[in-house]
Amino acid sequence: MNIQKIISKIFISSLSMLLITVNSFASKIVIAEGYINEQEKKHEQVEEQVEEQVEEQGQKQEEKIYICNVPAKIPKDLKKVFNEATKNIPCELLQSLERVEIFEDETKTLPRAMANARILKVRKDALSEKEIVSVLIHELGHVVDLGGLTGTYNPQNNNISEFKDGALEFYNDDLSLMFYQISWTPKSQKADSIALDFVGGYAKYDMFEDFAESFLLYINHGKYFKALALQNKKLRNKYVFFKYHIFNGKEFDTGTVPENLLIRNWDITKL
Ligand SMILES: [Zn+2]
Repeated sequence: MNIQKIISKIFISSLSMLLITVNSFASKIVIAEGYINEQEKKHEQVEEQVEEQVEEQGQKQEEKIYICNVPAKIPKDLKKVFNEATKNIPCELLQSLERVEIFEDETKTLPRAMANARILKVRKDALSEKEIVSVLIHELGHVVDLGGLTGTYNPQNNNISEFKDGALEFYNDDLSLMFYQISWTPKSQKADSIALDFVGGYAKYDMFEDFAESFLLYINHGKYFKALALQNKKLRNKYVFFKYHIFNGKEFDTGTVPENLLIRNWDITKL
């Protein structure tokens, strides 16, 4: 699409941000907010001003939904599936998510979706697939891992761990490390790892995909994960991690148990 976009950022405060995208082709103004914090009032005033501006110009506001009181900008096409995907995830672990975007990739070589702590992106042609909710839950697993579970830096003991995601460092009190350490060293899989220690083939890619695939299995295929946990010690540790550290003891009686527990699928989103 030959759409010119002008993006201007207005910083209201160090914690509150207003992002205005003027789309001259489609004649619409899109509003998105960052976190609502103690400056909520000020934030709302600015929001009102922009809404008035939108109304004046007879332009349509992009749909926005609230995840656990955090205003995340979600494209309208994803609203229903997004609500479905988030319904079982504890609110406090999704607070870092700021927006969800749809991207186009005519080469179809990029992944169907990707996410970090703040932004989740879904490929446009993947939207109609029947596994879209599963894809979103996998990506939300990354949001939980990277944005929901974070440690706190302690300058007194410089508690930076050896685990890293590119330039992103993790502190030793980050709960995600408990999960990573079941099957991973900071550099690779643990030497004693076997394929059956993982919920699927893609989970063996790295500790982050292991987390996201296991997270998805826990929610959507709880019976299967529980059956695997009874057979494999590392999977039992992973199951217990999700049960107590992510879901406050809640278990999901979802899906079915496959006949052969010694076969792993490649991709949990396709189960
Ligand atoms: Zn992933």
